[in-house]
Amino acid sequence: MTDVVLSCTKISKAFGALQASKDVSLDLQAGEIHALIGPNGAGKSTLIRQISGAMKPDRGTVHFLGHDVTRLSAIERARLGLGRSFQISSVIPDFTVLQNVALAVLGDEGNSFHFFRDLLKGRPTVERAETCIARVGLEDRRAVRAADLAHGERRRLEIATALALEPRAFLLDEPMAGMGAEGASEMTRLLDTLRHEAPILLIEHDMDAVFALANRISVLVYGEIIATGTSDEIRSNAEVRRAYLGE
Ligand code: ADP
Ligand code: MG
Repeated sequence: MTDVVLSCTKISKAFGALQASKDVSLDLQAGEIHALIGPNGAGKSTLIRQISGAMKPDRGTVHFLGHDVTRLSAIERARLGLGRSFQISSVIPDFTVLQNVALAVLGDEGNSFHFFRDLLKGRPTVERAETCIARVGLEDRRAVRAADLAHGERRRLEIATALALEPRAFLLDEPMAGMGAEGASEMTRLLDTLRHEAPILLIEHDMDAVFALANRISVLVYGEIIATGTSDEIRSNAEVRRAYLGE
């Protein structure tokens, strides 16, 4: 018996005439990184948004920790432990690292009263936030405004905000986008350890990182999964090489 944490079954989504997801089924198992790769416009972000609850599928279901969450909002799914980061940065630029993560710890109950009270009093919100900040290696940058962080640091801050909710699964949409080699290898190391806290569904274009990290890889082309397998299986799959790796 495999330990399936998250699954989607026959998810379909159209934007007018464009079929962005066609009967997509995949699952995420405890302890693994499952990478989702495919050309630009293949429907990767659209699929992750349906799994996170940011967008409703036309058909199909999403299950998380044994619950059918298909009809739950993104906030309700986050409360159950579905952590995510976005292709576009979601941190508040004028807040410091600590303020951003403290706000995430408070989650959707974080009105401004709780936020400032907890920041002033120090705990338990700040303690929890400090733990998440240390987890991503930003402890020396906790008082820096998000806007003043280097690009790679900002992506790690986003992971820290996802960690704040003690997720049982991560949905990460291109966490290495726009990073140099050093940032990408730091992020690779971080994801490698994070998978043991919660499995990761990872959209990523950096194929070195994908092949180094992924326990399984699924390839999405024109809204359809054309192959799922280990790094070796995907690397040697002729259809994948033609459709995606450009050979
Ligand atoms: P990927 O993340 O794989 O690059 P996306 O999921 O962002 O692809 O997009 C898949 C397709 O759906 C693209 O053709 C995109 O233009 C289209 N699309 C995405 N979101 C919307 C939307 N909200 N409305 C209309 N079309 C969209
Ligand atoms: Mg995308």
